[in-house]
Amino acid sequence: MSERVQKIIAAAGLMSRRQAETLIAAGRVTVNDQVITLGARADVARDRITVDGRPLPSLESKTYLLLNKPTGYVTTLRDPQGRQVVADLIRDLPVRVFPVGRLDAGTEGLLLLTNDGELAQRLAHPRHKVEKIYLVKVRGLLDEKARRRLQEGVLLDDGPTQPCSVDKIRRTGSNTWFELTLREGRNRQVRRMCAAVGYPVVRLKRIRLGFLELGNLAPGAYRQLSRAEVARLK
Ligand code: URA
Repeated sequence: MSERVQKIIAAAGLMSRRQAETLIAAGRVTVNDQVITLGARADVARDRITVDGRPLPSLESKTYLLLNKPTGYVTTLRDPQGRQVVADLIRDLPVRVFPVGRLDAGTEGLLLLTNDGELAQRLAHPRHKVEKIYLVKVRGLLDEKARRRLQEGVLLDDGPTQPCSVDKIRRTGSNTWFELTLREGRNRQVRRMCAAVGYPVVRLKRIRLGFLELGNLAPGAYRQLSRAEVARLK
């Protein structure tokens, strides 16, 4: 069955239909080694399509996105209460993906989304102890005693936290910024840990998950992981 090529490219999860049209118009798409123009059709099962010389991933291949979740978005695909959800940020994507783990609505930063259920389960499983780094801003000037307590473990109502590290402390005015590295991921863990030592969190941003860094992605923007990154995650 033949379809418009921009539709096929979008369905492969590479980009939106509109973006694919732009690339076709720019002469960057080929079908069976012929550069095509807008309006061309192809048959995914029979024709060989390339974008910038690279073959399309097959329709069965998986999609992996790294999103900079802004605050105010709930980490779900649908919300019965009508709040903004992370799915709203990837509406242009023709494939369905779901979030790996969760960030609170008030937390911003790195969120991975994929339709690779196996990988999602592995990354989220506590046994794998994937390292997560959070940039934290707390109210008050964090003292050495509180830093040590955070690092050594805090008793929360669901048990003590594991040792973690607190680095790059910066005290500004009446607040403190620091980086907290966790290898576990309990519900609202950073907020509860900081509150337990007397420093309420006023801003929280995940900047790293394993080897993946948020980098300078704008809030609300996302990028596809490269093949090398996906291979390294597996
Ligand atoms: N810890 C929190 O308290 N909230 C998050 O969203 C992530 C980690």
